[in-house]
Amino acid sequence: PEAITVQELANRMAEKGADLVKTLFKMGSPVTMTQTIDQDTAELLVTEFGHNIVRVSDADVDLAADTVEDAEDTLQPRAPVVTIMGHVDHGKTSLLDALRGTDVVRGEAGGITQHIGAYQVTLKDKSKITFLDTPGHEAFSEMRARGANVTDIVVLVVAANDGLMPQTIEAINHTKAAGVPMIVAINKVDLDSANPQRVRQRLLEHEVMVEEMGGEVQDVEVSALKKTGLDQLIEKIQLQAELLELRANPNREAEGTVIEAKLDKGRGPVATVLVNRGTLKVGDVFVVGAESGKIRALVDDKGRQIKEAGPAMPVEILGLSGVPMAGDPLQVVENEARAREVAEYRAGVIQNKRTTNAPASLESMFSALK
Ligand code: GDP
Ligand code: MG
Repeated sequence: PEAITVQELANRMAEKGADLVKTLFKMGSPVTMTQTIDQDTAELLVTEFGHNIVRVSDADVDLAADTVEDAEDTLQPRAPVVTIMGHVDHGKTSLLDALRGTDVVRGEAGGITQHIGAYQVTLKDKSKITFLDTPGHEAFSEMRARGANVTDIVVLVVAANDGLMPQTIEAINHTKAAGVPMIVAINKVDLDSANPQRVRQRLLEHEVMVEEMGGEVQDVEVSALKKTGLDQLIEKIQLQAELLELRANPNREAEGTVIEAKLDKGRGPVATVLVNRGTLKVGDVFVVGAESGKIRALVDDKGRQIKEAGPAMPVEILGLSGVPMAGDPLQVVENEARAREVAEYRAGVIQNKRTTNAPASLESMFSALK
């Protein structure tokens, strides 16, 4: 990260590019907007404009650099992560509940269902599927806006009696924008007024061509109420997942994404984290957004305390310094001092951005360019 264009620096400083060029000229460096300047010159310029330069610790730079891909031979298959979207009252919650019932482990666990924002079912063939239990387009687009792409597959629920509605179309657009494959679940087919074929036809108008219409998008008729079509839906999710060849390295320090977080009266700050790669373990020291902590306990969606959680597994974590935000990335780091340092730095950045709108650091401006 040695150079930055004048225009890019201007954007990051929220100043006019022309003003930067003028100042640079006065400083004896005649350059144009599209030319690059080195770090020393950029630092001078930032100071000249009265912005503060905050030094970034090595820790944060290291964390930023840590997003390297895992080597091919470390990757192992992982469960798909599925989000259910659709118009209000079309049966998202009912379908999530019905699918939860297909879990072969749930009965054995004998536990109480914990709504932690996501759950994982284990199927008869031992394979697993993770469902985000926070349906709704807001959660989906908010996460995406924060750079967190946690969903592999979207199941679009359309009530067969009601047909396509505004939020159905919104969901189609969100899914397309995210580039995530879609499976259409035509729900409420138990009703006399159900007209699944009409749904398929209307989908064509939005460039969603389901298999029955000769297209590539899988569709399935279900009744969340009568629990019919669930096996077919699961089969289609598995088929789609196979095509995606979803893999992750379980043998490394964990990285995850916050699905939801809250302040629990008895337990303090708790967050549900979906592990993206690596394995999260009790005792791990971590940074999550502007918070840090040490994993005191891990609780699964069946309310059981577990020792570790691997890729695609949702888990509630205890031991946080504060409440993070949905979409925040979690990273395990080597020790508490480093975790605090990064978290404090990030908290400073967030505050700085909120109050002054000035760039918090040159290094972060540069590293964001990588
Ligand atoms: P959501 O708003 O999309 O989460 O929809 P809900 O799951 O809350 O369902 C809305 C209403 O539709 C509820 O009264 C459900 O009982 C009903 N419902 C959901 N699925 C079915 C179904 O397959 N058949 C019928 N007849 N009703 C259903
Ligand atoms: Mg609902």
